[in-house]
Amino acid sequence: MNITTFKRKWVRNSLISLLLTAAGCASSANIYSVDDDKQLGLRISKQIADDPTTYPVLSEAQYPQAYQHIRRITTTILESGQVKLRDKFDWKVQIIKDDKTLNAFCTPGGYIYVYTGLMKYLESEDQLAGVMGHEIGHADGRHSTEQMTKAQGANILITIASIFIGQDISGIANPLASLTLMKYGRDAETEADASSVKYLYPTEYDARGAARFFEKMIKSGQGGGGPVFLSTHPDPGNRVQAITADWQKRGGKIGGTFVERYAQVKSSIP
Ligand SMILES: [Zn+2]
Repeated sequence: MNITTFKRKWVRNSLISLLLTAAGCASSANIYSVDDDKQLGLRISKQIADDPTTYPVLSEAQYPQAYQHIRRITTTILESGQVKLRDKFDWKVQIIKDDKTLNAFCTPGGYIYVYTGLMKYLESEDQLAGVMGHEIGHADGRHSTEQMTKAQGANILITIASIFIGQDISGIANPLASLTLMKYGRDAETEADASSVKYLYPTEYDARGAARFFEKMIKSGQGGGGPVFLSTHPDPGNRVQAITADWQKRGGKIGGTFVERYAQVKSSIP
């Protein structure tokens, strides 16, 4: 959809959002449709493709093996039978060649990005699957548009002001900026951690992969900041506990960590 349509929709949605807030049910409300998530994700993915300085996407033609590996992991998660929007979103994965960034993210609509910095930092495939499961959980839980719904409820006066001023002051016109700056709330992080366990549990992976990543971060003293994945509440230690408890509740099945196979994953990236 074009900007004008998006703006008009935004105004309409803001009013709906205000009503929902007034009704006291805004906490889990999402006034956007699944299709809105897809459109938003598509726009962001295009902006990413157009900005190779900030997002140097690794060439698939040059590194086909790296993409085979990352797709194998992605597909394993998506085929777990637990991803709600498995058939609704496009679910594309790309690698960003940036060794300094310890991160992965997933846009609305399922465009997944994994940094080489994260891939190199990790030691086993369940850890990477765990982090990717977490990011996929944000998209599958539609946390971005949920967050936008909340923000609109809170910013209703600004919206009304912008209608009177006649110009867009929403910030929604630049979804990439809002996404990269976006910090999910505590509930969304907890939910994404739980989704990671839920997705990985039926697969060959040990479902505690995300917790192992947190443990590694805590051990190396990076638990307090740095990557977006971690620089957020709740506390990493509590997240390890919650993930472990979740895994136990599901039956405590010990899955694979695939340390040797993961060494091949690492050697497939430059
Ligand atoms: Zn997160």
